Amino acid sequence: RFIALEGGEGVGKSTQSKLLAEALQSGGYEVVLTREPGGTPGAEAIRALLLGTEGEGWGARAEALLFAAARADHVERLIRPALERGAWVICDRFIDSSRAYQGGGGGLSDEDVLTLHRIGSQGLLPDLTLLFEVPVDVSSARLAARDADGSDRIGGRAAEYHARVGSAFERFAEAEPERFVHIDGAEDVYVVHDAVMSAIGPLL
Ligand code: C5P
Repeated sequence: RFIALEGGEGVGKSTQSKLLAEALQSGGYEVVLTREPGGTPGAEAIRALLLGTEGEGWGARAEALLFAAARADHVERLIRPALERGAWVICDRFIDSSRAYQGGGGGLSDEDVLTLHRIGSQGLLPDLTLLFEVPVDVSSARLAARDADGSDRIGGRAAEYHARVGSAFERFAEAEPERFVHIDGAEDVYVVHDAVMSAIGPLL
């Protein structure tokens, strides 16, 4: 089973992916907990390029290619082998982040982003995508508390960029209601965890 956690920044994806992985592990399942960009040495090297570049950073197209390359390595070396041996894969961000950020935010067409994904990762999609949503004031407060220097984020993006990312995620969820479940990330961490467990219940 392949579960992706998606949404903007500061919505609780990382915390909830860990709690979900722990819950499944204590239920006796093999779980591979991973994240994007990253997850394999090659993809982590690309993450460092994406997050560590000074100055203007990357244009949307170069960024999309780097994300697609990182994902190709991640899928080939970690995700597919895990799925083939029957493990659960819990991934903090996957293709829908590329569609929302490089597509919705950066202006690439959804078709182009999906073409890169087809070339890089044979179009692999999660069985279920949990879309975390919180009001902007809550996520900004969490981000300010988490990484004050912003070193773990791609910076220099206007509020409008993030608004386009949010509405792109909404569109994808509407277009594929069978793959997406909305999760209200503003609640207490254990309330959110219960919502996550209910969402994956049908897959158990
Ligand atoms: O999820 P995480 O906060 O670790 O993501 C690191 C950075 O990469 C964030 O700034 C996020 O917005 C960015 N990102 C992106 N496009 C993606 C995935 C992540 O711009 N496809």
